[in-house]
Order: sequence, then structure tokens, then C-alpha cells
Amino acid sequence: MSGLRTIEAALADVLARCPRPPAESIDVRDARGRVLAAPAHAVSDLPPFDSSAMDGYAVRAADTPGRLRISGHSAAGHPAGVELQPGEAIEISTGAVVPAGADAVVPVERVTVQGGEIEAEGVEQGASVRPRGGDTRRGDVVADAGLVLGPSQLGALAAAGVAAVECARRPRAVVLPTGSELRPPGTELAPGQIYESNSVLLAAQLESAGAVADVRKPAVDDEATLRAALEQALEADVLLTSGGVSVGPHDLVRTLLAELGVEEVFWGVAVRPGKPLFFGVRGTTLVFGLPGNPVSTLVGFELFVRPALAALQGAADPGPHYLSGRLARAVTRNPARDDLMRAVANGDELEPLSGQESHMIVRAAAANALVHVPRGDGELERGAHVSWLQV
Ligand code: AMP
Ligand code: MG
Repeated sequence: MSGLRTIEAALADVLARCPRPPAESIDVRDARGRVLAAPAHAVSDLPPFDSSAMDGYAVRAADTPGRLRISGHSAAGHPAGVELQPGEAIEISTGAVVPAGADAVVPVERVTVQGGEIEAEGVEQGASVRPRGGDTRRGDVVADAGLVLGPSQLGALAAAGVAAVECARRPRAVVLPTGSELRPPGTELAPGQIYESNSVLLAAQLESAGAVADVRKPAVDDEATLRAALEQALEADVLLTSGGVSVGPHDLVRTLLAELGVEEVFWGVAVRPGKPLFFGVRGTTLVFGLPGNPVSTLVGFELFVRPALAALQGAADPGPHYLSGRLARAVTRNPARDDLMRAVANGDELEPLSGQESHMIVRAAAANALVHVPRGDGELERGAHVSWLQV
């Protein structure tokens, strides 16, 4: 692990090896969080017709102010029917078709109704009319390739009549925890055992990154067992192992991956926590060997795996998406490695937590930020500008 990669160099190495999975057609109702593989075009003009923005009366603006005869009714969901003649008004509801001949709507609040007539206040041409195609035109791009579909994009697509979109297939990710000491929550711990948490953490991260998580049972630190588990897991688009990539006698993951034909791209990143992170490839499968300490797993995922998953899905900007903020207190820098410190973000003020060791995952429960503290000498002062990631 002599030549530690910088975070930037390691990320570039990862992103350079992300193939795009094929696209598939997805119902817009199921497409939240998916990445568009092709631009989505409006199926119709929106609004599809000149429509009323108010409940009121469709009129010719030139006839207002004035007294007009009510000659009909236009309700939402129905064609306008009759054409408006000079001197007439047609009662209209919000979202209804503005009839031919009318060029404005007088809101009901600006009208006095007397028998079959109205006394209308003056309105400008186009007042309270939403013109056909004012939001989008049929054939226009509603959302471009590479965009992650969130609620607003999905609403826009549906409004423009798009029923299904071409999306990148969700990458399939296998999570393989390793370590003879690991037991699932809900069981009694025998001496020397700990609760297995990394697969729960990773499954949640994967889900939020658009991947399909397939979590395997923890493999014990035994060559034959681990080899078999790794071999099966290598069928995934992305394999995430946790533990067993450091320099201890039971750290078998790298050796076994090499035996199974995984080509090492790097091992070791100048980051704290998470230094012994491994990255390799076999065919189109990306393999991340995440160090077992839970905070190393958390950080390694956010720095490298989340961007890789975004790139695999063709995201225009795979991230990581750093925000900018200021330190609420001074922190000591690490001379050799960049730090990712768990912190509480309050607006753009970041308060690093006490207890930054990589096994202290429970303290991370209080954190909503990872602050990037670049390697260097001395301190970063209170108020210093920093980049940070939301977690
Ligand atoms: P390793 O990278 O295998 O040397 O593990 C480093 C530390 O992380 C050890 O204290 C392990 O017990 C712990 N650890 C490894 N895997 C997990 C896991 N899946 N869940 C929680 N802790 C783990
Ligand atoms: Mg281990």
C-alpha cells in the first residue's frame, strides 16, 4: 500500500472503469430515482389548448369594460362548443377551454351578474388565459439524458403525456460482509463477537444510489468459504466486500480476488478513515473492497461507490456532490491523508463531532455531514471554508 492514491486520483480511476448498463423502458410511476438514458419528449402541447386560469367569464377584451350577454358555459373536461360572438360572455371554469372568439377571461370577482347579463370590469387581451403550449410544445425535451428523476421531473413528464421513459438499468450490487466475528442484530453475542452493521448500512446506501442490493450472509475468515462466496458474488455489476482488505493475517480478500481474476486498480487511498480501500475489475464487474470499520465503509461508499453507481447509470454529473460551508470550530489536519469528519451541519456551519475514530459508527448517528479536511500541517481555523457531503 506504499503509493497511496489521492481521493481525486482514485475517483478518476474508478470513473474511468464504469461501463453503462443497457437502457430499459420504465413506467413513469416507477421511475423515481432512475437516470434517463435518452431525452424524454412531450407527447402533447401543455396546456393542450388555450385554457382559463380563473373561474369567470370568457370575453373579447375589446368588449370590456361593459355589459355582456351570457351566451353559454365552458366547463373543464369538455370542448368549448359554441364560438363567442361580439357583445357576449361565456361562463368558464378554471382549466376549461377558452372558446374561439374569446381572448381574455374576466375573473368572477370582477363581474356583477344581473339576470342573463354581466357587468364586466376591463381586462387586457390574454388576461387569465393560459395559452396552448405555453409550458411546453409537443416534441420539446421535458427532461434530458443523464438527469436523475425526482418528484418534479416525474410530475413534468406525466403532465407532458409521457407514460414511460428510457432509463439505465439499475446496477445490481452484491454486498458481502467478511469476518468470523460478525453476528446479526437480534442474536446473543458470544465473547469476541460483534453485531454486523456494514451490510445494513451499505444496503441503505445502495438503495438510495439507485442500485439493487443483494446482501449475502457474512463469510467467515476462512479461505475456502470466502473464495466460494466471492466467486458467486462476482456475477454482480458491482461487488462490495466489507472487511478483510487490510494487512492482518486474516485479511484474505485481496489475495482471493486476485486468484479469481480480479485485476487490482488500486489498494490504498490517502483518506481517513478508509485507507486500505481496494478497487479492482473483472470484465464489467467493479469490485470495491471496503475496510471493515463501519465509518470507513460509510465514507468509502460516499467517496467512490456512490459516484460509480451514478456513472454506471449515465448520470450527467456523478458527484460526489460537495456543498460548501464553514467550520464551527478549529480542527487539526492530518499531514498525510485527507480527513472526512463526521459533523453536524447547521445551515452552512459545520460542527465536527468529538470521537472521529473509524469504529465509532454510533456517534455517526448524530451526524448529517462529512466534512472534507484536506491533508496538511497545523489547524484549519474556526470559520475556515470547507467542502462537505450530506449523509
Ligand atoms: P477488518 O477490515 O476486517 O480488519 O475489520 C476492521 C474492523 O471492523 C474490525 O473491528 C471488525 O470487527 C469490524 N468489522 C468488519 N466487518 C464489519 C461489519 N460487517 N460490521 C461491523 N463491523 C465490522
Ligand atoms: Mg476482518
